[in-house]
Amino acid sequence: MQRRGAISYDSSDQTALYIRMLGDVRVRSRAGFETERRGSHPYIDFRIFHSNSEIEVSVSARNVRRLLSFQRYLRSSRFFRGITVPNSSNILDDDYNGQAKCMLEKVGNWNFDIFLFDRLTNGNSLVSLTFHLFNLHGLIEHFQLDTMKLRRFLVMVQEDYHSQNPYHNAVHAADVTQAMHCYLKEPKLSKSLTPWDVLLSLIAAATHDLDHPGVNQPFLIKTNHYLATLYKNTSVLENHHWRSAVGLLRESGLFAHMSLENRQLMESQIGDLILATDISQQNEYLSMFRSHLDRGDLCLENANHRHFILQMALKCADICNPCRTWELSKQWSEKVTEEFFHQGDIEKKYHLGVSPLCDRQTETIANIQIGFMTYLVEPLFGEWARFSNTRLSQTMLGHLGLNKASWKGVQREQSGSGDDVDPTFEEMDSDILPQEPRLS
Ligand SMILES: [Zn+2]
Repeated sequence: MQRRGAISYDSSDQTALYIRMLGDVRVRSRAGFETERRGSHPYIDFRIFHSNSEIEVSVSARNVRRLLSFQRYLRSSRFFRGITVPNSSNILDDDYNGQAKCMLEKVGNWNFDIFLFDRLTNGNSLVSLTFHLFNLHGLIEHFQLDTMKLRRFLVMVQEDYHSQNPYHNAVHAADVTQAMHCYLKEPKLSKSLTPWDVLLSLIAAATHDLDHPGVNQPFLIKTNHYLATLYKNTSVLENHHWRSAVGLLRESGLFAHMSLENRQLMESQIGDLILATDISQQNEYLSMFRSHLDRGDLCLENANHRHFILQMALKCADICNPCRTWELSKQWSEKVTEEFFHQGDIEKKYHLGVSPLCDRQTETIANIQIGFMTYLVEPLFGEWARFSNTRLSQTMLGHLGLNKASWKGVQREQSGSGDDVDPTFEEMDSDILPQEPRLS
């Protein structure tokens, strides 16, 4: 094990270590098939994350706790204690409403500003955007959806994201859904996708981080969290997001008019999509993708192949932040780092051992971003561009290159040296990324 700059690595399996630093374990199996949302029961008290105003819980509130997701628990416990939360359901200015509608006309643009859209919709970006996309893709009509049920479902989804998380909140989910929409429109996909595929893709994108606690899997494991035990320390969060989504789908009755068989198929296919977003599985997905592309044998008339491509598309959508314009990308970088450092602060406070990338004393945004881009984002988007060599793919790779250069500039300034980059990254780069295209 060596340590250079901010990133420690093991020369025998550098990608594995980098992924472990990002906080996940590499093994995978599919654990329990219970609906998670209603049973969430945090052994660690998630209120410590938002500790300033949180105090003891009454017995009655504790009973309610088992019935609620983390997020709903927080809100209801405040309610029981008579603490009011700033109201998020103010009536929108007509002007704001008009501007939000105007933005939706360009929902397929890669430079769509989700932060602005979220402000214009008064924090309802996920509901507004997803509802609009359902309509745009003709899903309401095709699947005979009850629009009241759809809206209720989307509101529940949005509410089960934790608005206190700097990064893993409903705005991230809305951003991923918007990116997914952009990929669904790509010619190769749009001409072969069925309404069913589009439906699953949008639901999976909107719910892929549902009820995310704002800490990573190793944190849940080392605090003996119930979910880590339930899912045998494997894709713990992703399994929870999926089971939470299933819980909401069932509760909303949105697809109650479909056959049981179809509903079960939908639940399991949404699971396949959400589980693919486990970043610690990236190498497996990427090598499968690469060998399909090398053999040129992807046939999108084949439903299995299509669903594999949708898994890759959702993976891209989930980590596409560095492929956005610098203005947007920089904000995401700051938010994700804030969440990492927040976890690190808790780990320090409770003597849990600070997780990699989470120590604000030793890490910087620039170092974290450069590592992330080099080992995870560039390889994935390089292959995506081979699959779908379009203007969008070139735009994304263009931003990725520019953003990386910007972070390298920041890194140079911070280190105060005239060196280009930490040579560690260059060494790791050549070992891990033999494939084209190279971006730096
Ligand atoms: Zn995500």
